[in-house]
Amino acid sequence: MLAMSRGNEVGISEPNWLPTTPLEEMSKTRYDVLIVGTGAGGGAVLWRLCEHWKNAGKKIGVIEAGDLILPTNIRNVETMNSQRVNELSYGKRGLVIEVPGTNFREIIAVGGRTLAWNAYSPRMHIEPNEWPFPLHEMEQYYRIAEQAMGVSVSYMAGSPIQQLFLNRLWNSGFSRAQNMPMAADLEPTKYGELHSNVYFSSVKFLARALFARAFDLAVLSRAVGIIANNGKVEGIEAMTIDRKSYTVKADNVVLCTSSVETPRLLLHSGIPGPAIGHYLTKHTVVWSPFKLNREQYPYVTGTAGILLPEQEGFPLQIQVDGPSRAVYYHNKFIPFESEEQVNVAGIGIVQPRFENYVSLNPLKQDRYGVPEVRIQMTYSPYDYAVTALAEQLIGRVVSALGLETTAAFNRDAPLQGDHESGTCRMGVDPVTTATNRFGQIHGIGGLFVADNSVIPMLKAANPTLTTVALALRTADYIALTT
Ligand SMILES: Cc1cc2nc3c(=O)[nH]c(=O)nc-3n(C[C@H](O)[C@H](O)[C@H](O)COP(=O)(O)OP(=O)(O)OC[C@H]3O[C@@H](n4cnc5c(N)ncnc54)[C@H](O)[C@@H]3O)c2cc1C
Repeated sequence: MLAMSRGNEVGISEPNWLPTTPLEEMSKTRYDVLIVGTGAGGGAVLWRLCEHWKNAGKKIGVIEAGDLILPTNIRNVETMNSQRVNELSYGKRGLVIEVPGTNFREIIAVGGRTLAWNAYSPRMHIEPNEWPFPLHEMEQYYRIAEQAMGVSVSYMAGSPIQQLFLNRLWNSGFSRAQNMPMAADLEPTKYGELHSNVYFSSVKFLARALFARAFDLAVLSRAVGIIANNGKVEGIEAMTIDRKSYTVKADNVVLCTSSVETPRLLLHSGIPGPAIGHYLTKHTVVWSPFKLNREQYPYVTGTAGILLPEQEGFPLQIQVDGPSRAVYYHNKFIPFESEEQVNVAGIGIVQPRFENYVSLNPLKQDRYGVPEVRIQMTYSPYDYAVTALAEQLIGRVVSALGLETTAAFNRDAPLQGDHESGTCRMGVDPVTTATNRFGQIHGIGGLFVADNSVIPMLKAANPTLTTVALALRTADYIALTT
């Protein structure tokens, strides 16, 4: 941002695209709802509550450990290509960092990991008895989430390469191959209504919330503990980046800090619950790049994004994307490329097991005095069998597509990945689940969780759409009961 307001002619100033409130100011207010974290789950809860309470005198506060770094998903920036997206995500000074003590990843910033996510947004294949509430409710919230995030199957539909690949797959017996649902805003800008950000990030939720009503947002303010007494939440302890400590009071607290940080905060605060931190799950991911020889495809190919979804007895999904390492190519002039890359991946279910868990490391603390985490995570024989099936299927898909092999398979280790979930899973039984059907921690009134950690049973689909749907449902419950 150019700092005209500070009198510098060309200097950089604090970004001013979202109003913020100092943590010290927030400590003087008692909030009806305090949301912690602004990623997929936090953004969804905030937007939904702001819509519900447009004209109500309720106070909504948000605490975010990171800063205002980027007002959009990195793919919406004009200068990106797949290499720069990688550098900006994973490079030395990239956004995506490893959660201390683990190989899982986080983005500490307003928008959380949705600043760098790929926006793949399929629904989960859920069997009726796997979910703690009726599936028709899930259908309702999936629809709301899809509309809010702009999910459709139109992003790559009709491109020459997509049509060719789909036809080849259908002709080889993969009749369920379909366009990948993407959270991408494809509405044209017209009549002065601007649609400038194609790839969804939760900054869009924050923007929608802001246009519904005001809320207080403290950035560079890390939650370090939860205050609860006599079975009722009272607020949180938070620290500024220079480690000044404040108490922020609230009748309801919604933790949306991710599947590793949320159980860490709960455990560190002594919130009871035998399932908190346990049943950690994720996906097994197997993928390989394949060559597409442009002499065989001399036309402008466009881009491909194909999904072979999970179904009963098929505990994985296959994804095809490219050319060019992803389903976007910005300003690249495709006809001049002699060779392109297409990726084929198999994403498999990892069984949720008690013995996979997040715990506190008694020997190591962060700069705020909170213990780092330790993660215990192994794959079961079932998980390995799903990986083997994925490898077999990728081979068949690649031969159906007519691609050339370039490299061996890449496989996610148990501690790697971006889809970790389940550490505060939602359910009925307080022994095997951490929250009730609405995301409220069993036995602690007003304390909610609304991030990937509440997903009751992670299936093969990418998790974020489901997290958003569940977060919207939790927000509706809070609005109804507060
Ligand atoms: C490169 C990449 C690609 C991905 N692609 C996909 C995809 O295509 N499809 C898909 O479904 N998923 C994808 N994911 C995963 C997706 O980003 C996550 O599922 C989703 O963002 C999880 O939402 P969340 O609310 O649980 O956490 P996050 O989005 O990570 O949000 C957590 C928030 O909490 C804040 N925070 C953390 N600790 C504290 C604290 N102590 N106090 C205050 N604030 C705190 C963080 O700064 C952040 O704002 C991808 C992830 C990555 C990294």
